[in-house]
Amino acid sequence: MRGIPGSMQVLRPRTADEAVEAFAEHPLALPVAGGTDVMVLWNMGLLNDRPVLDLSAVAGWRGVRKAPGGLRVGALTTHAELRDHPEIRRSFPLLAQACAEVGSVQIQNRGTIGGNIANASPAGDTFPALAVYEAKVHARSRHGVRVIPFLDVFAGVKKTVLNQAELISAVELPFLPAKPHRTVFRKVGTRSAQAISKIVAAGLLWLGKGRAVSELRFALGSMAPTVRRLRAVEARVAGRKLGPALVATAVEDAARDVFPIDDIRSTAEYRLAVSRNILRSFLQA
Ligand SMILES: Cc1cc2nc3c(=O)[nH]c(=O)nc-3n(C[C@H](O)[C@H](O)[C@H](O)COP(=O)(O)OP(=O)(O)OC[C@H]3O[C@@H](n4cnc5c(N)ncnc54)[C@H](O)[C@@H]3O)c2cc1C
Repeated sequence: MRGIPGSMQVLRPRTADEAVEAFAEHPLALPVAGGTDVMVLWNMGLLNDRPVLDLSAVAGWRGVRKAPGGLRVGALTTHAELRDHPEIRRSFPLLAQACAEVGSVQIQNRGTIGGNIANASPAGDTFPALAVYEAKVHARSRHGVRVIPFLDVFAGVKKTVLNQAELISAVELPFLPAKPHRTVFRKVGTRSAQAISKIVAAGLLWLGKGRAVSELRFALGSMAPTVRRLRAVEARVAGRKLGPALVATAVEDAARDVFPIDDIRSTAEYRLAVSRNILRSFLQA
């Protein structure tokens, strides 16, 4: 590990152990992975004098590996790598689609999955997919690894439950019990590139005996301070055959699960109407 003297102290660990040790010794250091979020703050002069913990050389936290019952995605894996990865495209296509819609090609080439999660923006585009795939986040410190269910990672806008000395090392993706009969991923923004989502949605649907719904998982991002699973909607349709009346009730239920926000990108009214349209057309299909 080397530190560069001058106005900026840069810590550049090469292994996971070095990274968590350096973070424990320099708790005020700012972790940097791809730097796409951090550089914005930097340009605004908000990070002056803060030591930097550059994670980019920690090779063990990069790439997709097989793990018992699923895949383990290293925190430093970029959106472009996930977008193009054959096993992610086959087993977790909604995540590949989400990564293909993040920012622009340049942002996808540098931005990482760990940085996306740690940044905890309400509009993180990978979040609804990770929520319906019931991902788990590995938070690593010098004391070991804490495994956190994906939805429990977020404590509010730009806030996570990570402890001071914890870094995200990986995201665990459990294989689905069976191939879903229907899937949906939709990002709604003002244009098709470099748009921060007004609404981002992901859904999985399995049908069982007599084509009744055996399971629905549906999640919305950019609607509320943190990503939400639509639990009331999921429970409403479970075990029942989808028909016009049930679809209409389920779509109404969406307002019980998520209380949309007004912000500079959109209004609560628009968000609720459009997310209901996405849900309705998914269930009707
Ligand atoms: C022009 C532009 C367009 C964008 N468009 C989108 C978009 O469409 N959708 C979207 O979701 N995002 C978008 N983003 C946001 C950003 O690109 C993504 O969130 C990206 O995944 C961040 O990853 P990174 O590696 O660059 O994070 P960094 O900038 O390196 O870090 C982001 C935050 O996470 C922390 N961090 C990074 N890695 C770790 C780790 N392993 N453990 C703990 N903390 C860590 C950093 O300290 C920092 O607080 C955009 C950004 C820009 C500048």
